[in-house]
Amino acid sequence: MDDRTDDGHAAGEATDGGPPRAAAPVEATPDPPARHNPAQAEVLAALGARPHERPEFDPRLRHELRAHLEERLAGVAERVPDGQSLWVGKHLLSTVHGCEGLFLAQDAEEFAWSPTTARGVVSHKAIELSVSWRGDPSPGDLVDEGIARLIGGNDRIADYLGGLGEGERAELHGEAVERVAKFQECFPPLEARWRPVPESRLRSDLCGDKVVLSGKVDLTVGRADGLKAGKVLIDLKTGGFAPAHRDDLRFYALIETLRIGVPPRLLATYYLDGGRLQDELVTEALLASAVERVVDGAAAAVSLQHDGRAPVLRPGTPCRWCPRRDDCAVGQAHLEAEAEREGW
Ligand code: SF4
Repeated sequence: MDDRTDDGHAAGEATDGGPPRAAAPVEATPDPPARHNPAQAEVLAALGARPHERPEFDPRLRHELRAHLEERLAGVAERVPDGQSLWVGKHLLSTVHGCEGLFLAQDAEEFAWSPTTARGVVSHKAIELSVSWRGDPSPGDLVDEGIARLIGGNDRIADYLGGLGEGERAELHGEAVERVAKFQECFPPLEARWRPVPESRLRSDLCGDKVVLSGKVDLTVGRADGLKAGKVLIDLKTGGFAPAHRDDLRFYALIETLRIGVPPRLLATYYLDGGRLQDELVTEALLASAVERVVDGAAAAVSLQHDGRAPVLRPGTPCRWCPRRDDCAVGQAHLEAEAEREGW
């Protein structure tokens, strides 16, 4: 029986479109020694696609999306003061589509590093190193190197990390090691032919640079082949599912399409604590929904920041850490009701 796919690749054979999908066994044979643990095998099975499973997109899509976005964002761009740009990223979109009071509160606050934000940056740096590191590095070595590189770099985090006491540093190190170890346990070793790219930056300048869409994907594998989609965008998360995670990746898919004209094939959020992957295929309808979310979010942000519109308060879990929680009656009522419900 010929095991080749319709474009001549052996079933399960890796191409530069990402990891291979395992071929179905044709007859009962003893299982070969497993190269991957079950979690890794699941990731491989979910991310891989055979060439005929990769959709082809219209070459006009990129220009149509850009024209549509620029038309819809023209009013937003006009309200951005001269010499400035509205930077639209996943944080702006998730906050402004959540509670607008929280959006304004965070917008007014000067950014300060915290153990939580630093832990995320350090573990992402270590995972980034792990993708290109030769051999089998330990999570501890990767985190050590990640911290050293961040301290020696130009990022704003350098001063924060450099100023940590030994105890704070040890705690941060331990938490980052946990994340990196989970990544190594759950993800199959990434082969160079899958073209893995960690921390991939995306950007699209619109409306004469008045509106900038920007983002950074934790990991990508594969690439487009002509008009055929092949890239997979992967975000790594701790904790559990939140709808905003899916929206983040849809936003990245939109920027990627504006960038190269071919959308990614698949969006995948990987939950490290639970060893669980949520994925969805990219379609033109998905990109259209991402456009609407960007347009609505940018319009809301500009009207709050520059027109003085009163924020719409939408209480929820973020009230727990909102800078305005002590002065916000709506947030206080929500937190009291939550405490009563949970028996705090
Ligand atoms: S406390 Fe809650 S409702 Fe009030 S502004 Fe903050 S997030 Fe919004």
